[in-house]
Amino acid sequence: MSAADRFLELWGIQADLGYGSAVLQWDQETYMPPAGGEARGKILATFAEIQHEKLVSAELGDAIEAAAEEAEPNSELEAQVQEARRLREREVKIPGALAKALAEAESRGLRAWQKARKESDFSMFAEELEHTIRLNKEKAAALAPNGNAYDAMLDLYEPGITERVLTPMFEELGSVLSPMIAAVRESGVVVDESPAQGRFDVAKQKELCMFVAKQMGYDFSAGRLDATAHPFCTTFGHQDVRITWRWQEDDIRPALYGVMHEAGHGLYEQGIVESLRRTPLGEATGLGMHESQSRLWENMVGRSEDFWTWMMPHFVEAFPEKTGTRPGQMKAALNTCRPSLIRVEADEATYNLHIAARFFIEQQIFAGSVAVADLPELWDQTYEDLLGIRPQSVAEGVLQDIHWAMGAFGYFPTYTLGNLICAQLFDAAYAAIPELDEAIAKGEFAPLREWLGTNIHQHGRRFSTHQLVEKATGTPLTSGPLLHHLTSTAEKVYGVSLGAQRG
Ligand code: ZN
Repeated sequence: MSAADRFLELWGIQADLGYGSAVLQWDQETYMPPAGGEARGKILATFAEIQHEKLVSAELGDAIEAAAEEAEPNSELEAQVQEARRLREREVKIPGALAKALAEAESRGLRAWQKARKESDFSMFAEELEHTIRLNKEKAAALAPNGNAYDAMLDLYEPGITERVLTPMFEELGSVLSPMIAAVRESGVVVDESPAQGRFDVAKQKELCMFVAKQMGYDFSAGRLDATAHPFCTTFGHQDVRITWRWQEDDIRPALYGVMHEAGHGLYEQGIVESLRRTPLGEATGLGMHESQSRLWENMVGRSEDFWTWMMPHFVEAFPEKTGTRPGQMKAALNTCRPSLIRVEADEATYNLHIAARFFIEQQIFAGSVAVADLPELWDQTYEDLLGIRPQSVAEGVLQDIHWAMGAFGYFPTYTLGNLICAQLFDAAYAAIPELDEAIAKGEFAPLREWLGTNIHQHGRRFSTHQLVEKATGTPLTSGPLLHHLTSTAEKVYGVSLGAQRG
């Protein structure tokens, strides 16, 4: 056996352990009886421990270095070796005692956060949060001893992204979107959301959502749709990529846009070329790129008038009481712009300001310029500055998200990164595919899916997010296309004049 084969064989075991954990987690969120939680937690911890031991083992380290000697410059094997080294070194750098302390802090933090959020009392969480922040700063120092601590956290979720790249983008989003929200509010226009509201039979919702996912190209012979409280997409290996959904009986949006979102993630996963599976390159390149694929279908395609030109007859067939609704009315109902306090309920236009707020606050946490006790006030003030509204309680303010309780600092920016990337990719797809708008208006999504497959999906981690964006669009990541998309949509829906900012 060649050194390359040996290295890939060992890595395949690593990948299988990850897929095995994914099956257990998927089951935990879908079908596991409630009493099974404790036992499941133990099994998952065992999987994680074995995976960690194998990843840091000298056996794997030696196999990687032996393969490195066989690798030709710029070959796929060289990329495999580099990615394996990066993932292994990251794991090796964290001392065992710190990893254990982080895991314990996470479960204690989650319990404290749940209670504090329920009681809307920040003091019940402050001590655990302080502890979690301290441990994560230690983790950042272990990962990048001479580097920027926040960059080390960002790199965990989107390799290569840095504070220096993100800061001007978030500042630009704030400087364009905050005045846009104010202009929309001053317009006094109230959008009629009734086209998306009513009574929607759950079985019919499911049927319609599956029909749309299939039309997008999500392959149900290599996937399935199940119900969960918090929808997600998960992969168990080649040809098994599952998505989940939830619904609301009086509003079609959570189900339809949730399924389009997850099916967009699913297309990415189903599109990774088979030869990369079970290798270090057999996954999506980063969370921001992953999110761009879900948002592209959800927002760029799904909220457009073209999409509803095709969709409306199918919608009306499932829900005849909606007969007579025009695609333009539906577009307006799907593109409201209204500042709100809760991120997960935010519309597309204001969503990025929720993320900007978290980014600016995380920067200050890692720079050590804000004390934990002052976070609620900093949060409220940041919301007032960016969104023009102020939370009345910590439950709808600083305590609303689970991320910090889990120690997931640096995760939030990937959501907006997804929006930025998807707008830029969609512009490039429009330029590359003749009459894409007409195809969408006929429900012909194959040209778009194939363009994404060729430019993004198939490559797995062969290229970084930055490289893929530049290869696919001809320019580095920029905020112009997203700002143009959001401001021109607000102009159409609210009749305000914003000069459709190019950013
Ligand atoms: Zn997503």
